[in-house]
Amino acid sequence: MRVQWAASSHPGIRRLTNEDSYCTRPDLGLFVVADGMGGHVAGEIASRIVVQAIESYVAETVDSDSTSTWPQAYDVNLGVDGNRLKGAFHIANQRLAKEVAGSADLRGMATTASALIVNGSTAALAHVGDSRIYRWRNGAIERMTIDHSWVEDQVRAGLLSANEARQHPWRNVVTRALSGGEDPEIDLQSLELTPKDRLLLCSDGLSSVVPDARIAALLTAHAEPAAACDALVAEANDAGGPDNVTALVVHIDAA
Ligand code: CA
Repeated sequence: MRVQWAASSHPGIRRLTNEDSYCTRPDLGLFVVADGMGGHVAGEIASRIVVQAIESYVAETVDSDSTSTWPQAYDVNLGVDGNRLKGAFHIANQRLAKEVAGSADLRGMATTASALIVNGSTAALAHVGDSRIYRWRNGAIERMTIDHSWVEDQVRAGLLSANEARQHPWRNVVTRALSGGEDPEIDLQSLELTPKDRLLLCSDGLSSVVPDARIAALLTAHAEPAAACDALVAEANDAGGPDNVTALVVHIDAA
């Protein structure tokens, strides 16, 4: 299947810098969004390093198969692309560790990362942190990732509603991220795709202010990925734009 894609990233209304990073590599089927944390310039550096490391590793392993040399044990359940992302996240975390070791100013930086490799009718997905991946199909969206965040834990325990979570003062507290420390547990899965599916990767600057139903409506309303991205970013900023916002939309076309 072929893809059409677009991405839009904006600092939002209240912040001067943009600590989100993303990459679109349709030649590799690779799409990544990362949301850096760490104050001053460190968050920006963390997300950029991780996106670049993931992109490089996925590019280097384009001809790999299950018998290739892998940085970690090969997991047969994930397929080759899932193992490429697993390796990429591990290498990216090592890159962060190296940067942090080399500069006291970078200590404490961390980043989320949500990545897809689209290959035919399957996509390998890897995710850590509170950025999100949604699959749009026939006008409805399904969230494919679980936020690794304090508020998500409360929602799953039945202690907060999704609305309350979006407004909670601790909504930015992330429980898992890439920080250059010990590898966090990465959520890995394989998605089945059908023609006309649309995928959205976004930072919490979108999902923390725009409800899922509204995200679905905007994806449905815009047939062009670029128009959808612009509309999603505008909606987050209209809602106050409290955070950096990134929207990356991939349309799956037949043949
Ligand atoms: Ca954010």
